[in-house]
Amino acid sequence: MSTAKRSYPPLAIHGGRPVRAKFLPYGRQMVEEEDIAAVVDVLRSDWLTTGPKVKEFEEALASSVGARYGVVFSSGTAALHAAAYAAGLGPGDEAITTSLTFAATANCVLYNCAIPIFADVCSDTLNIDPEQVRQLISAKTKAIFPVDYAGHPADMAALMDIASERGLIVIEDAAHSLGAVYNHRPVGSLAHMTMFSFHPVKHITTGEGGMVVTNHEEFAHRLRLFRSHGIDSDALERRIAGQWYYEMIDLGYNYRLPDINCALGLSQLRRLDENLARRREVATRYDKAFRENDSILTPRVRPLIEPAWHLYPVRVAEGLSRAEVFRALRAENVGVNVHYIPVHLHPYYRRRFGYQNGTCPVAEKAYSQLISLPMFHAMSDADVNDVIEAVDKVTEGLRANAN
Ligand SMILES: *Cc1c(COP(=O)(O)O)cnc(C)c1O
Repeated sequence: MSTAKRSYPPLAIHGGRPVRAKFLPYGRQMVEEEDIAAVVDVLRSDWLTTGPKVKEFEEALASSVGARYGVVFSSGTAALHAAAYAAGLGPGDEAITTSLTFAATANCVLYNCAIPIFADVCSDTLNIDPEQVRQLISAKTKAIFPVDYAGHPADMAALMDIASERGLIVIEDAAHSLGAVYNHRPVGSLAHMTMFSFHPVKHITTGEGGMVVTNHEEFAHRLRLFRSHGIDSDALERRIAGQWYYEMIDLGYNYRLPDINCALGLSQLRRLDENLARRREVATRYDKAFRENDSILTPRVRPLIEPAWHLYPVRVAEGLSRAEVFRALRAENVGVNVHYIPVHLHPYYRRRFGYQNGTCPVAEKAYSQLISLPMFHAMSDADVNDVIEAVDKVTEGLRANAN
């Protein structure tokens, strides 16, 4: 322990006592009594599925992120599938995306029989690198799918410039960035279409659910078609109009989100600002605490950006093993995770497209060092202190061991 600034008890992986008695997950939803009451109201009403709550939720969320239209879906993945369809992706087309994401971002391109092409990321934000995008554009390129990694918006100005030069559509995967601000503008008002997810680890939840927001009426129309079998109006509208006639004009799915879930989303949305404020507080405390710890690199934030902090991913410094730090933190009962295994390195993508290591060197190097620390709005100050203590204890202890 020669280099230790403070001497810590033995690590839990070495048989010591864990920092926490109870496991702390990396992310978790928060459901309040008012959420439960909102859901119960719907259960007692006439509409369980597509009723008034769908529209209310769509309008409330879209207006909160500065977009004209919102179309809700049964999951974020279904929302991405629909956005890729609305953009007109089809056989023979290519879409450029990042590899440092959840597989759904690239899978939605494949669902539409188009090909995802992986651009490398910027080493500071780990978001898609516009210069790499530029180099990968071909005659077949139709769309770009940036991901706002960890809640830090991608370089949207550069990407929208490229898109307008080359006539491409930008679909922003904002599963991590509901409430983030980019150059004074909310995420949701920047791309042609923006996708949000309401999975329980995300900022607000509907159980499962997602939404695409857009300022373009034509995209909104195509998104609604796709959500409901390619049929041109929903049951509520038909009942109001007293009509029996409908037309299926394209092949769609049943990707609807019930009113029950939308009521939960609406209720959760009312607390989004306090939720974001708490996440920013937690991030600030981590930033400060780890300034002294040169075994880990904290996330970088570019000027004029307010991240939404879905994740707080740190990078383990050279000389320390990420796998070991990960195991040691789990043993301290700190629920760390890794975001993400680069998509092109998954067996399916390797097998189908022949991807090798080295395709996206910056993303792959980052992946070998990344660990996401617990980050959610319901974390108490004591939880945050435990994480800080566990990280300092583990990095110090493993360094001492290595020396
Ligand atoms: C959560 C997530 C999705 C998919 O959302 P689901 O609602 O789980 O289908 C897509 N992309 C990213 C980056 C995500 O984190």
